[in-house]
Amino acid sequence: MPATPAPSSRPIDELPAALPIEPWLAPDGGEDPPPLAVFLDYDGTLTPIVDDPDAALLPEATRRALAELATRTTVAIVSGRDLDDVRAKVAVDGLAYAGSHGFDILHPDGTRHQLATELTPALDAAQAVLDERLADVAGARVERKRFAIAVHDRQVDDADDRARIAEICAEVAGEHPQLRPTGGKRIHELRPDIDWDKGRAIDALLDELDLGDHRPVYLGDDLTDEDGFRAVLAAGGLAVVVRGEERDRPTIAQAVLDDPDQARELLEQLAAALPGTDTTGA
Ligand SMILES: [Mg+2]
Repeated sequence: MPATPAPSSRPIDELPAALPIEPWLAPDGGEDPPPLAVFLDYDGTLTPIVDDPDAALLPEATRRALAELATRTTVAIVSGRDLDDVRAKVAVDGLAYAGSHGFDILHPDGTRHQLATELTPALDAAQAVLDERLADVAGARVERKRFAIAVHDRQVDDADDRARIAEICAEVAGEHPQLRPTGGKRIHELRPDIDWDKGRAIDALLDELDLGDHRPVYLGDDLTDEDGFRAVLAAGGLAVVVRGEERDRPTIAQAVLDDPDQARELLEQLAAALPGTDTTGA
């Protein structure tokens, strides 16, 4: 089998628009495009980034678009959030969910499996140290997730304090070799250092849900989403980045959306382009 060439990266600003989505659905001019499977990040993709992660609520119009699309094809949410948290926030029946960057997977039929449960003690120990060392940094917030620790600096105004948070997170990561430091928008994260990421979660869902003949589409906005993009590109799919404030970050995505409003529009256009399973109005 020939090796898949590594996808090339480009600055976000040089990408073509993902809307309208229609031309992207049959890029080879094929008459009978394969069915789609739609994978979606949550924060920054379906909802705007806000200061308080608990306040990142799904707009009602986006919920309707997800529910409509889920009647026509497989839709999965792939998030860094805990599975139960993101599932409660999305609150649409019939979706698949991958929480904690894919360490925790739930199928539409209720099947659930988790990885890395043996690393919980290392996470507990690192959390205790972070709580202690960050206690006097105003605005720093340590959030324990099931399979990760997130340190938020969205509410830290002082640049020196933010640098100190980064330093402390790096120190604690160094003291716990079973954990790996990762980062994102105003967030430092420690997660189990096992070979698993959003891309592996997408591969697992494609396999477990028998979607081998489907063309995967992935929408994401952040660095950890690049793993998801890599997975869908390797499967002949479509990678779309939601750019938010970022303009020149390199990405391997093929097309760009301006914001979560455009992401909702893309979901609506996808639903309109796919044949429905319900017969109302047919
Ligand atoms: Mg995101």
